[in-house]
Amino acid sequence: MKVNHCAFCGAPIYGRSDKKYCSITCKDDLNNKKKRQWNTRLSETVDKMELNYSILKMYCGKKKGIPLSELDALGFSADICTAFRKEGTKNICRCFNIEYKLSKQKIYDIRLLL
Ligand SMILES: [Zn+2]
Repeated sequence: MKVNHCAFCGAPIYGRSDKKYCSITCKDDLNNKKKRQWNTRLSETVDKMELNYSILKMYCGKKKGIPLSELDALGFSADICTAFRKEGTKNICRCFNIEYKLSKQKIYDIRLLL
C-alpha cells in the first residue's frame, strides 16, 4: 500500500488516500507560509517599481538614451514595468505615468505622461 506524506512536514499520512496533510496545523502552517512568501514577493516587486520610478524621474524628458549598464548600477530592474506594448519593433514600457522605450542596450525617450 502506498503511503502519502504530509505536504508540509513530510510525516506519513494515514486515512483517506486524498489527504495532503497530517494535521490541520500543518495545513494552516503551509498556507501561512505561502501567504508570507507571496507578501514578501509582492513587497519586493513594489520596492523595485518604486526604485525604477525614482530613477526614471531623474532622466525624464531626456531624449538621449541611457545605457542599461548605467541604470543597472543604480538598481533599475528592466524586467519590471506597469504596462508594455510594441510599436512596430519598438518596446514601449510604462512605470506608472512615465513612459519609455526599451532596447537591448538602453532606454530612451523617457517622458512623463499627463
Ligand atoms: Zn504534517
